[in-house]
Amino acid sequence: MTNRCIFCRIIAGQAEASIVYRDEFVTAFMDIRPINPGHLLVVPNRHASNLGEVDDNVGGHMFVVGRKLASALRHSELRCDGVNLFVADGAVAGQTVFHSHLHVVPRRAGDGFGFHFPPGYTRGTSRADLDAVAAKVRAVLD
Ligand code: 5GP
Ligand code: ZN
Repeated sequence: MTNRCIFCRIIAGQAEASIVYRDEFVTAFMDIRPINPGHLLVVPNRHASNLGEVDDNVGGHMFVVGRKLASALRHSELRCDGVNLFVADGAVAGQTVFHSHLHVVPRRAGDGFGFHFPPGYTRGTSRADLDAVAAKVRAVLD
């Protein structure tokens, strides 16, 4: 728990939030600036600035709960034609709150949300390049 961290304060009950789910490891609450109504955040109860600091079992559990909430959104009376689950890990990836969290975003056709792809994205790359990159990643896996 860090006092300056807004998500730690929410989890400790020291700041307001609209909580939807809570267990021993994670808490889920409504995002204060929702992309669409129903936009949720699944947050580890123990402070972790980034994904690398989240325990393996808690990281996996975030996704389990994210799936459960995605299903709840699809079955709720909120409009939900699809769902994005995503994590912004690091400022350059769009992280703005440095207590790691999983976004669960209900989507609707024409909602205007999306990802911007870099120029040349659609050209793809060669198998040789993909194999070379795969080797670099494999080289540092445990
Ligand atoms: P990030 O950009 O780090 O992936 O996402 C941070 C999210 O936290 C944003 O979508 C933002 O709207 C949300 N957020 C920031 N401050 C608060 C807050 O005080 N309460 C709640 N419920 N959400 C917050
Ligand atoms: Zn925190």
